[in-house]
Amino acid sequence: MADMKQYVQDVLDLVKKRDPDQEEFHNTVKEVLTTVVPLLEKNPQYKEAKILERMIEAERIITFRVPWQDDKGEIQINRGYRVQMNSAIGPYKGGLRFHPSVNLSILKFLAFEQVFKNALTGLPIGGGKGGSDFDPKGKSDNEVMHFCQSFMTELVRHIGPNVDVPAGDIGVGGREIGYLFGQYKRIRDSYDAGVLTGKGVDYWGSLARTEATGYGLLYFVKNMLDAKGIDIKGKTVVVSGSGNVATYAIEKAQTLGAKVVTCSDSNGYVYDPDGIDLDAVKEIKQVRRGRIKEYAATHPKAEYHEGCKGVWTVKCDIALPCATQSEIDLESAKALVANGVQAVGEGANMPSTLDAIAYFQQNKILFAPAKAANAGGVATSALEMAQNSERLQWTFEEVDGRLNGIMKNIYESAKKNAEAYADPDDLVAGANITAFKKVADVMMVHGLV
Ligand code: NDP
Repeated sequence: MADMKQYVQDVLDLVKKRDPDQEEFHNTVKEVLTTVVPLLEKNPQYKEAKILERMIEAERIITFRVPWQDDKGEIQINRGYRVQMNSAIGPYKGGLRFHPSVNLSILKFLAFEQVFKNALTGLPIGGGKGGSDFDPKGKSDNEVMHFCQSFMTELVRHIGPNVDVPAGDIGVGGREIGYLFGQYKRIRDSYDAGVLTGKGVDYWGSLARTEATGYGLLYFVKNMLDAKGIDIKGKTVVVSGSGNVATYAIEKAQTLGAKVVTCSDSNGYVYDPDGIDLDAVKEIKQVRRGRIKEYAATHPKAEYHEGCKGVWTVKCDIALPCATQSEIDLESAKALVANGVQAVGEGANMPSTLDAIAYFQQNKILFAPAKAANAGGVATSALEMAQNSERLQWTFEEVDGRLNGIMKNIYESAKKNAEAYADPDDLVAGANITAFKKVADVMMVHGLV
């Protein structure tokens, strides 16, 4: 064990030495590699083939200039990226994020996570991620369109249905995917529907893709709770975010009989003791593209609080972080545990810091890690690709049923490997080991590439 622990430490040192300023990337590599030590011990061939050293190096990274003109006629320049991390088990697959915080460290962390998440789905997709430091907030539809067209004018040469298949993420929803697809189609002069997922249902999108990440999160959490004999019905749930993942997590939690009392955006959060009125949230966020603060104006019992962190001080049985990375730090984890939280399910990517996860685990809180719990979105994207290849559209029920089955499989395989290699309730280790083994074995089969 000491030998493999040292090997992992050497690789982590290498990651830091090569890219000292990429903290988010260091953290995710650390989380994955430290948990697979027992697997490495039983499979020394991975070390001999330098699988870890290969996994931490992206197969290809593209950065590019994105020039566009705003409504005032002023020229704007943003930076675009695509990180093609690992294509062992299929074409690169992973979302595009448009947010001012986007940088290479964040995209490498997301791409690395994506490789393992995609492997967990059991579907034939590799891992990638991309985006830009462009901020769609406050921009007109016209400006967003011009930005997307310029972004795709460069990205087009690096993607394709069998090469790399982007999708949405923070700041990239149906509107942006529409503009991106329109420009791709125009340049290629070919209806390669499978080049992007998250498309509208009238142009080869999949029913249930919009709902998939949030619904999938609840399917995973329900499996985790059922195994402990805990009924989700009647439980109080705290959700952060009010975007795609949060909205459909709230919807499914409510359908399953839970009471969701919060949601948030990057300015603050609302607490509604009567339970969140989801139609009102959808109207504010999806129709008016407004701020969550507006909710309190029409719901007299609801309270609005500035700042996002306070959401984790609200008493709950289940916490579902669905906004962004590092939103639950150690202090927030302590507040949740002190208030009696029983389970945490990660809808966002890496929303809990490493010390927050350790604190949950020490306190025996049921913990559903992002790469397993939010894999329903990308799994349904892969189902969208399958429908595009068939030139058919499946019903909502068919897609949702498959999603439910996929989340059950992910839970069961993570649980099985947790029992085989780690603490039986450690789904972080279980998910990492399941996914790592699959990717590593295929990399071995492909030889030194
Ligand atoms: P959206 O852009 O639809 O929503 C993001 C939400 O999080 C908004 O409410 C946003 O508020 C809030 N938010 C964003 N950045 C911050 C921040 N720095 N601090 C506080 N709140 C913030 O994105 P998604 O719902 O698609 O994605 C949410 C998370 O889920 C991300 O981590 C993403 O990577 C992950 N994810 C998404 C998948 C998908 O299918 N969409 C699949 C798997 C994971 P505001 O409106 O103020 O910006």
